[in-house]
This record gives sequence, C-alpha cells and structure tokens, in this order.
Amino acid sequence: MKFSDIYGLERVKERLLRAAESGRVSHAYLFEGIRGVGKMTVARAFASALVCEHPSGGESCGVCHGCVMCDAGSHPDVRVVENSLYGVEKKTNILAAETIRAMKKEIYLKPYTADRKIYIIPNADTMTEQAQNSLLKILEEPPAYCVLILLCENSGSLLPTVMSRVVKLSFPPISASDTAECLQKKFGADPKRAALFARMSGGSIGRAAELFGDGDFLKTRDDLANYFLRLVSERGSVAMYDFSKYLKGTKSRSDRVFEITEALLRDIMLICHGKAASEAANADCAELLTDICGKITPQISTEFIEIFDKYRRFADQKVNYNMTVHCMVMEWWERTHDRDYRNKI
Ligand SMILES: [Zn+2]
Repeated sequence: MKFSDIYGLERVKERLLRAAESGRVSHAYLFEGIRGVGKMTVARAFASALVCEHPSGGESCGVCHGCVMCDAGSHPDVRVVENSLYGVEKKTNILAAETIRAMKKEIYLKPYTADRKIYIIPNADTMTEQAQNSLLKILEEPPAYCVLILLCENSGSLLPTVMSRVVKLSFPPISASDTAECLQKKFGADPKRAALFARMSGGSIGRAAELFGDGDFLKTRDDLANYFLRLVSERGSVAMYDFSKYLKGTKSRSDRVFEITEALLRDIMLICHGKAASEAANADCAELLTDICGKITPQISTEFIEIFDKYRRFADQKVNYNMTVHCMVMEWWERTHDRDYRNKI
C-alpha cells in the first residue's frame, strides 16, 4: 500500500510522508476519524514506508521484500494488535488489558528484518483504563525503534496521560468526489452508482464500498420509495397495509432497511423545504422523490422523520419488530391523510 494509492486525506498523507522522508518519526501516533475513512489504509502505507528497503521521498517502493510482506500482512515487524494476535479470547471486540500486556512483552524484542517495529492498534478507544495504563508504560519509555499507531473513532475515551504522549492526526471525511472516483477506479462502479454511494457514505470510503457491495441495496431503496409514494397518494388503507407487510418481511436486514429509509426521509424533507432534488443523496430517483414531495407539506415531511426516529428507537430496544414497523407506517399514513391526526396523539 502506497500513499499515492489513497484517495483524499491530503494533509494527513503529506505530514506522514514528510516524517518518513526526514526520519523524524514520532514514537506514537493517534489516527482519529469515522469508521471506514481510511485510518488503517494510511497506517499500512506509513508502515510500508518505514520498513521499505528502497523508499523514495517518504513513499515505499511497493516492490521490495519488505513492501511485499507488508502488503501481504506478513511482515514480522509490522503488527496489527488485536486480541486474537496473542490468543486472548474475548466475546467482545474490546481490546483487552492482557493483549496490551502481551504486546508490551514483545515490543522490547528488537526488529527482525527492518530498522523499525510498527504496532498498529485498531479500536484503541475500546481499551479499558487498565489496558490504557498498561500501554502508558510503553508510551513513557518506548524502545527507539518502536512506532505505535493507535486508531480510533473518538479519542474522548482515552486517558489524558495517553493523549499527551501521542501525535494526534485527525482524518476528515472523504469528499463525495474522491469517494466516487475511488469506487469507479478500484471497484469498477459505473459513474451514476458511484455518485449515489459516495453521497450516501457520509465521507467514509469503507462505508461506500460496503453499500456498493450490497447487491440488494438499489432494489430495496426503489421498493421503499415506491411504497412511500403509494402511502402518500392512496387514501385507502391498502397501501398502508402493503407497506407494513413489506417491512415485516425485512426483519433479517432491518438495519440496512432503516438506514435506507432514513436517507429517503431526509431527502424528502429537504426537497419539501426547497432543496433541489438533483442535490439529494438519492438524486438518481429524483423524479420519484419529487412526486412524493408533491403530495405532502413540508411540515408533514418533518413529522415523518420524527415518527421514524421514535420507532427506530423502539426497534433498537428490541420491541416486537412487526408491531414496531406496522405502527410506524400507520402513523405516517394517518399523518398524511387524517385531518384529526393531531387530536389523536
Ligand atoms: Zn519497498
């Protein structure tokens, strides 16, 4: 993995390139940013640059033995610290204190082949206080060859003593244009789909790739949009019951269905409040969205989201799924067609 293969994140890449080129590398970094933004990819590129046998301008060559092993995840001096690395069995993904202690023992053994030893620690913000205190001992007296790269979504749960000993680099969300370009070049997405998933990704390339890889995504999105159109168009309750039945059938992938529903409702609300349909996340079905918005008021579109948020919380609390989605659709339907709705709630 080379820095030049990574989309976006120019400032972060520039800073690490300069560090690798000058040799002024800190003992510990903290990469902070949303899931899927590229923290691990950048950490691997940085590790490659540090163990590469023929680096140039801070960039790895990509072809030497060190680079090849690094890319294959088998370089003995580049370690990704997870509980399983040291045989620590945990039911959760929380990074265990035993894991950090095992890492601590290993870190003082000199590098095998490279000049440096790099420890990449994903989910560093899941470390317990005990684990962090164990890590602190390394951060206080790191071996000269050691580079620690902590990855986290939110550094708020890290101890101030840990924070004061790491160089923090913030990873901003990736722009929609960079994400779309990545989807096209790396995953072979056509431009229309690349643009859709880039807009839906919230600045996370990993998320965009995951959505692109979901073969049911577009059909589910189109189904939901069509059910919404029927719900706001047909005064009779058949559309309401059909929509409810459809949602009951999606229980096994409810997270994805809720996610798509939320994106549609946000688009509907924004268009109802004057935003151009061409700028919506689901701009590729702008006509359908515009039809839906033509049937409801801006006020109703806002209340649709409020109703959705309320029932999504119920679903998160494991309240009966079928009942939850049925009541949600019924409230949307009543809100659209029943003039006395306000007096009922
Ligand atoms: Zn190399």
